[in-house]
Amino acid sequence: MWVVAPTKTKEEGIMEKLPQVRSITVDFESEFRVTLASCDFGAIMKAFLLLLPQLLEDFFQKVLVGFAEYEMSLPRKSFACTCCGNDRDFVWKTRHGKATTILTWFRWLTLKQLQVLCKRCGHKQYITRTLLGMAPRERIPDATRRKLALVGALTSYRVSAKIGQMFGWAVDKMTIWQCVQRVGRHLEFLLDEKEEPRGEADGTGIGITGIAKRGKELKVLVQYKKGGGIRVAGLDIGNYNGSWANLFRKNLEIIRKFKSTFLLVTDGDTAIFDSLKGKVKVLFQRCLWHLPYQAQYVLWKDGVARKSEDWLHVVAELMEICAIRSLVDCPETIQAMLASKRKRLDQVIEFCQQKSYSHTGSYLENARGDMFTALENRLTGKTTSRVERLMRTVNMRVNISKWSTEGALNVTKVRLAYYYNGFDA
Ligand SMILES: [Zn+2]
Repeated sequence: MWVVAPTKTKEEGIMEKLPQVRSITVDFESEFRVTLASCDFGAIMKAFLLLLPQLLEDFFQKVLVGFAEYEMSLPRKSFACTCCGNDRDFVWKTRHGKATTILTWFRWLTLKQLQVLCKRCGHKQYITRTLLGMAPRERIPDATRRKLALVGALTSYRVSAKIGQMFGWAVDKMTIWQCVQRVGRHLEFLLDEKEEPRGEADGTGIGITGIAKRGKELKVLVQYKKGGGIRVAGLDIGNYNGSWANLFRKNLEIIRKFKSTFLLVTDGDTAIFDSLKGKVKVLFQRCLWHLPYQAQYVLWKDGVARKSEDWLHVVAELMEICAIRSLVDCPETIQAMLASKRKRLDQVIEFCQQKSYSHTGSYLENARGDMFTALENRLTGKTTSRVERLMRTVNMRVNISKWSTEGALNVTKVRLAYYYNGFDA
């Protein structure tokens, strides 16, 4: 015999007249007949897993009927007639009606539906899902769906199903996939007014099997958190040079609300500038982590041999110019650092012009204007890419199997929400 409701503590006994606490006690007696050929650990566990569905079904049914009986005895019910809105006068139609299935995190259960009749209008309705706190006709409760979505986002669907099976969870890959999609679709990422007015926007080509590499770009906006670390504030997968506006649209209002101007670190993608231009004031900081790497690409375009004397000169100078010591808090020191870095940068640009490295020269001239925004504004230590690690987190999962763009976006949303935004199941 199991007692479902906790026994009353002394305090609860005294406070009995306070708001009505809806708790009932269910006496649960169960009898099972099990045949086992052995009593080793594996055999007992296996037998229990066969027993589990029956036990779970009986348990759900008993508790539901118990609560429904209790509700029916109350003058006012927690449910109302979907036809006339009556929430008082009902009679039982059946306690064991048409069967319906719901997914627990052990397995699918078949429950006999509870049906009541509205005494006011004569409408018949099932109350099983209402009592369970589920939407009408829904077969997977939110709590189950979130768990399946999370496991499906953290590893491949095949592995998810395998892990489930090992622990007696009879759920197939398709169901896991559906849960990931559904949960992902409903996740929304936005800036948080209460966190830092600073962030990073970055895009990276993602390997979607079946879609040519570099064909699609994952765009991420991250926001720095007051206590350190980052959170995701925007996410999209789309074509290159597209969808940045889409990603920023809902964030513009929040950017305007910050007391100080928002500082955005980017790798210089002009589509990002364009999507914000004329809409909201933002301080741009070129990502100094990316810059020396991008410079190697333009040097290659200029035909400069890798690790040649000129190549080494330019790359080494840029590495030093881009290395910003954090925690420098003296305005005069910062001014002196800025002057020194700008002078060195101008010398590199001049060197490129003399050698006719036109791609590298114009690339650096373009970047020059927003390389030291953070330093100038004494927002030190925010010039290295924190989004890099995040991108690796994404790629590990997205490369695994075949994805549609939307499928890839949804799995990435759940995955990043778990790692960065406190999503859990
Ligand atoms: Zn009614």
